[in-house]
Amino acid sequence: MGARRYVEAGVDLLLGGVCVGCGRPGLALCQHCTAALVKVPFPTAPEPTPPGFPVTYAVNDYDGVAKAAILAHKEEGRLALARPLGTALASAVIGLVSVTPQPVPAVTLVPAPSSRSAVRSRGHDPLLRITRVAVRRLRDAEVAATYAPVVTAVRQVADQSGLGSSARACNLAGAFRVTRRVPAGGVVVVDDVVTTGATAAETTRALRAVGADVLGVAVVAATVRRQKMTPL
Ligand SMILES: [Zn+2]
Repeated sequence: MGARRYVEAGVDLLLGGVCVGCGRPGLALCQHCTAALVKVPFPTAPEPTPPGFPVTYAVNDYDGVAKAAILAHKEEGRLALARPLGTALASAVIGLVSVTPQPVPAVTLVPAPSSRSAVRSRGHDPLLRITRVAVRRLRDAEVAATYAPVVTAVRQVADQSGLGSSARACNLAGAFRVTRRVPAGGVVVVDDVVTTGATAAETTRALRAVGADVLGVAVVAATVRRQKMTPL
């Protein structure tokens, strides 16, 4: 355990922290729950699948430990959870890259945009934090990786929660744009969870519109498990 982990554990203990997965006192996510979160990646797709939805890999169903960890990190600011969530995301990226027809010399992770108001009200950018950890884990695994938050929402969109899949797609159609140069090489769209796929599809559309080579989407968790995993 690195020094920083001790510090995080100590802070959690001081604050009366409990594992968000099982409720044991101590770390934000105990070793047992961390192991449950970082699993073998599997291909998934929402039903119905939005037009243009790319190949997508997840490592968890969106329930149990994964759901608890994603929500506690995003909504409660349990920042120590970025580490296991980022590690899980890296696993999804490796799953995706392993099925690309051509070898991929380098990947750029592009976070799906969150609305500025959501980032402002939370006071932090949870997805960017997870993405940074994923890049470090990929480099540890000798995958040349970087990240580039180059896609932004260019118009106001309604809150997605409470909208059905076709309403979400309409809400987001043409809403995103690439505002900075996309690094050369393969691009992987990343997000914490894929639900209807509208956000991932619109992010992919915006990137492909400027000629980016989008390999697919990698997420920590998916609400619908479409295809059973194939062990790597
Ligand atoms: Zn636990």
